[in-house]
Amino acid sequence: MKVRLSRILSDMLLEEARRSYPIEACGVLFGSIHGDEMRIEAVVPLRNILESEYTFEIDPEEFLKVLVEYEGRGLRHIGFFHSHPGCVKPSTIDLRYMKLWPETIWMIVSYRESRIRAYRIIDESLDEATVIIE
Ligand SMILES: [Zn+2]
Repeated sequence: MKVRLSRILSDMLLEEARRSYPIEACGVLFGSIHGDEMRIEAVVPLRNILESEYTFEIDPEEFLKVLVEYEGRGLRHIGFFHSHPGCVKPSTIDLRYMKLWPETIWMIVSYRESRIRAYRIIDESLDEATVIIE
């Protein structure tokens, strides 16, 4: 699986992680799916209601609001993003939530390492996508 996004959106993700640090930033990814490729066309940062340095939670009402707004524009909800202070691997908590949203892209952004990775759960196992910034 490949995940494509523009330099503008990848810069926005890194900036969001930097701004929120040390609290984890989080939000929603919208775009389109073409076979084995996903293209991210919108990044919508949302509040981390836990204000935690180790995990995140999105306000379900805020999520619903952006879902209606962006899907109304013809975009599809394709995933979530959140930031980690360092390592870009999913945590145990992340994996637990990821299993509730199989096939959905989970993007992890590291502000300190300036890295972006994307994962999803396929058949109960972790699959890392190739992130292409163009
Ligand atoms: Zn995490």
